[in-house]
Amino acid sequence: MRRTLLESLTRSPLTESPPVSDDAALAELTASVNRAACRRLGRSLAIREVDAGSCNGCELEIHALNNAFYDLERLGLRFVASPRHADVLLVTGPVTRNMREALERTYRATPDPKWVVAVGACAADGGIFAGSYAVAGGVGAIVPVDLHISGCPPSPLQLLQGLRALLESGSAA
Ligand code: SF4
Repeated sequence: MRRTLLESLTRSPLTESPPVSDDAALAELTASVNRAACRRLGRSLAIREVDAGSCNGCELEIHALNNAFYDLERLGLRFVASPRHADVLLVTGPVTRNMREALERTYRATPDPKWVVAVGACAADGGIFAGSYAVAGGVGAIVPVDLHISGCPPSPLQLLQGLRALLESGSAA
């Protein structure tokens, strides 16, 4: 026991080195998302995340948008607790039969104009869960989708790029 304690004091941590960050690219991307939100909406962008049956891998990356590194709220992009306050529904996972009605009700509760963004390979067509008795289909099979962000899971930067593309292009429903 004493030996283990001494070793833990002298040994370096058993962790990997962090990836090299490109702060300038991240700052440019987040600022451009914010500019696009202000141009399209005249205010910040409110996002409601809906897990329709994901394995939670996509959620880990979405949660990272709120961490100290990405810190989206400093740019006026914020996650909201109710679809009634949202501009964007960020939907992950294949839509399971159990979550189908919840997704439909969330969509109806979101005021117009609104966008639906399907996040991850499963949200496109069910991904690795397609064909399961528990899966109703991809997000597009249940509600209209404006944008799909690919990846399994997509990285926070891919999510930001998707939000920027959404704001800079098509119109909301
Ligand atoms: S796309 Fe990948 S990470 Fe996201 S819910 Fe499907 S399996 Fe999980």
